[in-house]
This record gives sequence, C-alpha cells and structure tokens, in this order.
Amino acid sequence: ADKTVLIVYAHQSPKSFNCAAKDAAVKTLTDQGCKVLVSDLYAMKFRAVATADDVKGKLKNPEHSLYNEETGLACKEGRLSDDIKEEHRKVEQADLIIFQFPLYWFSVPAIMKGWIDRVMTQGFAYSLQNLYDNGMFKNKKAMLSFTTGGMESMYLPDGLNGDINVALRPLQNGVLRFCGFQVLAPQIFWSPAHTPADARVALLEAWKTRLQGLLNEKPLSFAPTELFEL
Ligand code: FAD
Repeated sequence: ADKTVLIVYAHQSPKSFNCAAKDAAVKTLTDQGCKVLVSDLYAMKFRAVATADDVKGKLKNPEHSLYNEETGLACKEGRLSDDIKEEHRKVEQADLIIFQFPLYWFSVPAIMKGWIDRVMTQGFAYSLQNLYDNGMFKNKKAMLSFTTGGMESMYLPDGLNGDINVALRPLQNGVLRFCGFQVLAPQIFWSPAHTPADARVALLEAWKTRLQGLLNEKPLSFAPTELFEL
C-alpha cells in the first residue's frame, strides 16, 4: 500500500535551504505515490510551550499539576487542545516522520522542541510498558534532516565541536527510539551558507536520490550508554 510521510518542518523563510530540502521531499515522495503531510510549524504559529492550556476542562490536580499526567489523562478522555489532537492524527497516519530543521545549539529549534514536548504525549507516544523496541511507534520510521552552520570537519570526533552523533543522541535515542521509532540515518546538509551554489544544487539532487529509496533503508542501531567514554 502507498505510504504516508509526515514532514515536521521548522524554518521561518520560504527562500531558505531548509525550505528547498522540504520541497524536494514533498515532490519526490508525492511523485512516488506517497501521501505527504507537512506541519509547517512557524507558518502554523505552533505553540512551543507545554502548559495547562493544553488540557480542556478541569485539571486532576490544579495545586500541583504535572504536565505528563494531566495531558495523559486528557488524551484518554479526548480533552487535549485541538492543535495537539490534529498533530496526533497526522502522526497516527504516518509511516515515516521527517524532521526538517536548521541545527540550533546542537539541537532542534525551540518551536520543534515544543512540537516534541506537546505532541509526544504520555499514553499516545510512550508508556512505562511501551518504550524502545516495545515502543508505541515500533512500526513507524523517523529521521532527522537538517542543515548546519558549522562545517563537517568541525563535527568529526576530533573536531572542534566533537562527533555529531553524540550531539544527535538525545534526539535520535532519547526521543525517537524511546517512543519506538525505527530511526533512519540522519540527512545532514553541512554548512549550506558556505557552500557554492552549484554544490548546493548537488546536495539537493543527492537528497532526492536518497528519498527514492528512503522507506526501504535499514534503521540505525544505537550503542548502549555504557560503551560511551566520558
Ligand atoms: P540559508 O541561509 O537559508 O541557505 C543557505 C544558502 O542556500 C543560501 O545562499 C540560500 O539562498 C541557498 N538556497 C536556498 N534555496 C536553494 C535552492 N533551492 N538551491 C540552492 N541553494 C538554495 N549551526 C551549527 O552548526 N551548530 C549550532 O549549534 C547552531 N546553532 C544555532 C543557533 C541559532 C539560534 C541560530 C539562529 C543558528 C545556529 N546555527 C548553528 C546555524 C544554523 O544551523 C544555520 O544558519 C542553518 O543551518 C543554515 O540553514 P538555512 O536553511 O537557514 O540556510
């Protein structure tokens, strides 16, 4: 059956390289027969902060409201705010989620972190019984696709910033694997602002080629934490 892909996209400008990468994905995947959904977070003015406003009706414990408990209960009872419910419907449909963003402080921009905080609701995205290999989304795939300011050499293990894979572990393992997603290798566009125009076009062409086989790629496996040297 044809697959559904959700692109969660965070860039302010339609002239940006990130927008071009998102548009390339929409076109290539649509041409292959996929249904593509896009959450354009800045255009949607997506609210980034996790607060009690995300719950409709009475809080269980207004004196000391705990976001995960209150939203978990609201999720069960259909009392989450409409913007979260809408994103849940998209996630439910998706076979693959692509997060497209510029790297901000070794992580996602705040608006995308807000999407993670608010949409990956307890009981919907994870529970104590449903984590990692047994996670809620074990039949779905997810990946990071991002641009950097820094050059690739700065993100090598002996580079100024250290190994990019270490920086990505909280997102790839702490968010995506935690919720059960099969995580595909990240698509990294190194420093497009300092790349000549023809090389930037080549980067987008390589992305389009990868997109054609993306849904058949083998997911990454993550080394246990004890193997990390601190
Ligand atoms: P753009 O500047 O939009 O694009 C780059 C070039 O591509 C431009 O010349 C544009 O015209 C061109 N382009 C657009 N469309 C096309 C097309 N279709 N074909 C060919 N060329 C095209 N960087 C790090 O490495 N690490 C960090 O931790 C980090 N933290 C940051 C934190 C903050 C708050 C901010 C604001 C930036 C940070 N950066 C960091 C830098 C940031 O990651 C880069 O500025 C960003 O990734 C560049 O991507 P862009 O899409 O905005 O590029």
